[in-house]
Amino acid sequence: MRIIETAREAHEYVAQSRARRGLVPTMGALHRGHLELIRVAREAARADGELALSIFVNPLQFEPGGDFDRYPRPQSADEEACRATGVDILFRPLPNEMYFPNRSVVIHETALAHRLEGKSRPGHFDGVCTVVTKLFHLLAPHVAIFGEKDFQQLAIIRRMVRDLNFAVEIIGAPTVREADGLACSSRNQYLNEDERRQAPILRAALREAAQSGETSGEALVRQIRARIETAPAGRIDYVELIDAETLEPRACVEPNSLLALAVFFGKTRLIDNIRIP
Ligand code: AMP
Repeated sequence: MRIIETAREAHEYVAQSRARRGLVPTMGALHRGHLELIRVAREAARADGELALSIFVNPLQFEPGGDFDRYPRPQSADEEACRATGVDILFRPLPNEMYFPNRSVVIHETALAHRLEGKSRPGHFDGVCTVVTKLFHLLAPHVAIFGEKDFQQLAIIRRMVRDLNFAVEIIGAPTVREADGLACSSRNQYLNEDERRQAPILRAALREAAQSGETSGEALVRQIRARIETAPAGRIDYVELIDAETLEPRACVEPNSLLALAVFFGKTRLIDNIRIP
């Protein structure tokens, strides 16, 4: 496995490589969700292709007062996980390698990014789009894999790639979960014992709603809220029925609908979603 830490080295590497390249962008603290993305990327890059994974805790996508400083950075465990799963190129730049102190250009998506996560975390998707653009320029992937857990991110990246003519195929990978249904996340390790015990209610509430046969958006949201409110540590940020592509709210279930939510457990904000019907 080759470890690349500078932009210059990344450009040089890409310039001499002829291989079909799959990229998995991450912020590290790798878990089973990331490993699934690696598996999908390997398949998409094909047997003789290259598998690149980036680890960069991107300051631009954290809101002021967010968890940027305390975000887990288990460098050697991550490196080991990459070696064990056959990653060919680990791109692991330092923040000052990615951003000039007087940087002044951001990528701003104007239709999807202000809803849901963007409403709660202003500027978050500017940070995401900007860093993903940079990673695409630096590593020139033929295909890049993103998780459906962050479905809004996936929708925005697809839109950005379409609108800005990036020559990269975007693949979404299904959400990987713990045995009790909680979606794997680097942030799960912030949860205390009590919060961790209660957190699987998110998945349970979404599943019950999706399987209830109810078609009214309002009734579905009410049902999910009521279920989550039985968890004393939970504090709901949003629950919405939306169109999975446009992210517009929906009054009732139609093809391509999605139930999405964000809920705090203590200071930890968890997200999840489910397709419906
Ligand atoms: P992160 O390191 O949290 O920024 O996530 C990097 C990538 O992994 C993103 O495309 C996420 O959507 C994806 N991801 C995170 N958690 C999961 C999960 N539980 N299942 C599948 N993909 C995930």
